Amino acid sequence: MDHMKLLCDFGELSWSFNDSASIEAFLQKIVAMVADHMNAAVCSIYLYNENRRQLILRATKGLKLEAIDRVKLELGEGLTGLALKELRPVCEQRASEHPGFKAIPGIDEEKYDSFMAVPIVRGLSRIGVLTLQRETRRPFDENDVMAMRVIATQLANILEIAKLLMTLDVRQSVEAAAGEAEGLKFIKGKVASTGFGYGPATILDRDGALKYLSQKKHSMCTLEDFRNGLNETARQLTALQRRVEERLSDAASLIFTSHLLMLKDRTFVGAIEELIEDGLNPPEAIIQVATKYISIFSGSSNPYIREKSLDVEDLVARLIGNVTGDPEDAFTCRGRIVVARELFPSDLLTLSSEMAQGAILVSGGATSHLAFLARSLSIPMVIVEDRRLLNIPRKTPIILDAELGNVYVNPLRDIIEKFQRRNEARQAMAQRPRNLKPETYTRDGTLISLLANINLLTDLDVAKEAPCQGIGLYRTEFPFIIRANFPEEEEQYVVYRKLVEGMAGKVVTFRTLDIGGDKVLSYFPGAHENNPFLGMRSIRFTLRRKDLFVAQIRAMLRAGAGANLKIMFPMISSIEEFKTAREIVAECLSSLRSEGIDHNPRPGVGMMIEVPSVLDLLDDFAAEADFFSLGTNDLVQYLLAVDRTNEKVADLYTPHHPAVMRAIHKAAGAAIKAGKEISICGDMAQNERYIAFLIGAGIRVLSMDPAYIPEMQNVISSIDLTMAQKMSQEILSMNRAADIAAVLDRESAEARERSMRVEAAVSAGRVRRES
Ligand code: PEP
Ligand code: MG
Repeated sequence: MDHMKLLCDFGELSWSFNDSASIEAFLQKIVAMVADHMNAAVCSIYLYNENRRQLILRATKGLKLEAIDRVKLELGEGLTGLALKELRPVCEQRASEHPGFKAIPGIDEEKYDSFMAVPIVRGLSRIGVLTLQRETRRPFDENDVMAMRVIATQLANILEIAKLLMTLDVRQSVEAAAGEAEGLKFIKGKVASTGFGYGPATILDRDGALKYLSQKKHSMCTLEDFRNGLNETARQLTALQRRVEERLSDAASLIFTSHLLMLKDRTFVGAIEELIEDGLNPPEAIIQVATKYISIFSGSSNPYIREKSLDVEDLVARLIGNVTGDPEDAFTCRGRIVVARELFPSDLLTLSSEMAQGAILVSGGATSHLAFLARSLSIPMVIVEDRRLLNIPRKTPIILDAELGNVYVNPLRDIIEKFQRRNEARQAMAQRPRNLKPETYTRDGTLISLLANINLLTDLDVAKEAPCQGIGLYRTEFPFIIRANFPEEEEQYVVYRKLVEGMAGKVVTFRTLDIGGDKVLSYFPGAHENNPFLGMRSIRFTLRRKDLFVAQIRAMLRAGAGANLKIMFPMISSIEEFKTAREIVAECLSSLRSEGIDHNPRPGVGMMIEVPSVLDLLDDFAAEADFFSLGTNDLVQYLLAVDRTNEKVADLYTPHHPAVMRAIHKAAGAAIKAGKEISICGDMAQNERYIAFLIGAGIRVLSMDPAYIPEMQNVISSIDLTMAQKMSQEILSMNRAADIAAVLDRESAEARERSMRVEAAVSAGRVRRES
C-alpha cells in the first residue's frame, strides 16, 4: 500500500465537494475512494449519535444501499461498535467467529468475512467508525490498519461537521446588538506581529456581517440568481482551499470544510429555496436560515463546533455577495484591515489566503501561537483593548502600524502621507543590498551561530535566503494546532522530511509537542485548568500520552535519516522527566531498527531551559543531555511569576530583570563547563537590545525568526567581545531592573551608531569599487 499516494489523494478530497450533489453523495464518494485504495469489496461509514449512544450506517460501497440509515448499532455492539467503544482498530480474518460478532441479515455481507473497523475520533469525541471487508482468503495486514488510521484521522473533522449537519434541529433565532464608535481616532495597542497595513476595515465579529446584511436593502433577485450564486460560491471556496493547501501544505488541511459542507447540505439549501419560493428575496431567505444555524453552532458545548459559527457567517456573506453580484456584500478580506474580537488559527490562514492587509484583535489577549502564526504568515497584527473599534462602520479607513502598535482610525491626509513615506522608506531599507556573509562574526572575529526558528514550512523560504546555520527550534505544534486532529506518524513524517530536505545537511532541531498553557488544541479541550501554564502542558502532556509521543519521535527519527538531527524536549523540570523522555527516544530507535525502517540512529537529544527548577541542577543535566536551549519566553514568565499573555501584568514581564540576566549567565557557565552547546531560542535572541549582553555572558548560538537574521548579523558584527563581557559583568553586578535597562539602552544606542558606521563604510567601499 502506497501511503504517500493515499495522503495526497485525501488532500484532494475537499476539491471533490464541487461534484457532489449532497453530503450523502460526498460520503458515498469517500467510501468508494477508500474501498478502491484498500482493494476492499466493502467500505462503510457509521456515524455516532452521542445522545442515543448509537452508530448509524451513513454510507457504504459494497453492501445493499437500502441498509443506509437503517442499520443501527449500540456502542460496543458488534465488532464495529466494539472498535468505537474501546477506541482501537478491530481486525479479524474470520469476523463471524469472533465472540463479539453480530450478524446483520439482508445486507449482503456474508461473503466478506475478513473485516476491519477503525474508530474515527477527534480529540475526546467519538465521531464514528470506518469499516472495510474483503473475502476471507484476503485478510488485512498491519500496513492496512496503519493506512486506515491515517484515513480516519484525515476524515475526522469533515465527518464531525457532516454529522452535525445531518442531525441538525433548526430552532431559535438570534438578534445582533448595536454600538457606537464616534470620535475614535487613535488607539495604542500591543504588537503581536510586526509590519504595516493601510486599508478599509472589515469587522469580523460574530453577527457583524449578518447584522449589516440584514439591515441593508437588497435589490430583488430570483431563485436562479440564488442557484448561480451557490455554484459560484462553491467554485470560489474550492479555489481558496486549493491555494491555501498549496502554500501551507503542513497546516491547511480542509479549512473550508464546514463552508463547503453547508453548501451541499440539502436541509440548509432546501430551507432557503422554500422561503424564496414563498416570495422572500433570496438574500433575506439566506439570512433567515443562516441565523438559525449560527445560533445552533454557537450554542454547542463542543468548542470546535462553536469555532465554526464564524465560518457560517463567512459563508453567508460570500453567498449573498455572489447572489446579489455586489462585492461589498461578500465581506471580503482582500486588501482589508480585519478587526476581530476573536481569531482562531484557521482564521489567520483564511486572511493570509485572501491577502488581508493586517489584523487587529480587540481585547482578545492573543495566545502566543496566534502571534507566532501571524508572524509566519507575514500578517501585521496588533492587540488593542478598546472595544469601540468593533463598532466602527465597515470600510472605515485604518492605518495599522504594527511596528509601534498604533492604530489610526479615519486618519487625516497628513497622517496618511507620513505613513506612506515611512512605508516607502521601510521597503527601500528592506530591499537595500545587505552584503550578508555566510557566517556571522563579532567585530573581533568571534564566531556566533545564527539559527532559524520555524513555525510553518513557509518560514523555510526566508531561512534559506538568510545566512543561517540551520534550524535551532522547529515548533512542531503548528500542524497539530491548525489541523482538526492529532496527525498520525505518517503525516508528521511527510512534513518533517520536507523540513530536513529544505535544510540540505544543516542541523535541524525538532522540539517535541509543546501544547497546553496558551497553546490550545480546540479538538482536545482536556479538563479546564485554573493555572494552565502550571498544568498539563508540554512534556507533561506527551509523557502521559505516550502513544502520541512515540508517533512524533518515530516521525522525527525517520525524517532525520542521513541528516544532522537534534530532538529537544520543552519544559523539562526534573532529571527523571528528562531521562524518561530520553528512554522513549531509545525505545523508538530500537523498534525502528528491528522493523528495518530507515532512520537517524544517533540524534542529539537535548532540552529547553524554561523552568527555574533546572537552573541549580544544570551540572547534573549536563551528564544526561547533549545540548541546551534557553526558552527565555517561558523562563521569564516562570522566574518572575508573570503570565506571558496577561495584558494586566505586561509591564512586569521584564527580560532584563536581574534574576533573568543572572539565570542566563549561570546556565551558559554550566553548559560551557560541561562542554555542552547552549543556545537561546526565545525572543530575546532577536532583540538587538540584549545581544551584546548574551554574547558577553558566554552565549555563542542564537536561534530566531529567520526574518531577523540579517539585522542580527549586522548588530553582531559591530560588537566587540571584550566590551560585551565588560558590559555583562556590569549588568550582573546590578540588582535593579531599571539600572539594567539604562545600561542596555545606552549600549544599544552606541551599537546602532557603530553598525550604521559599518554599513556606511561598506557602501562607500562598494561605491568606490563600482566607480
Ligand atoms: C520559549 O519559551 O522561549 C520558547 C522558545 O518556546 P515558546 O515561545 O514556543 O513557548
Ligand atoms: Mg516555551
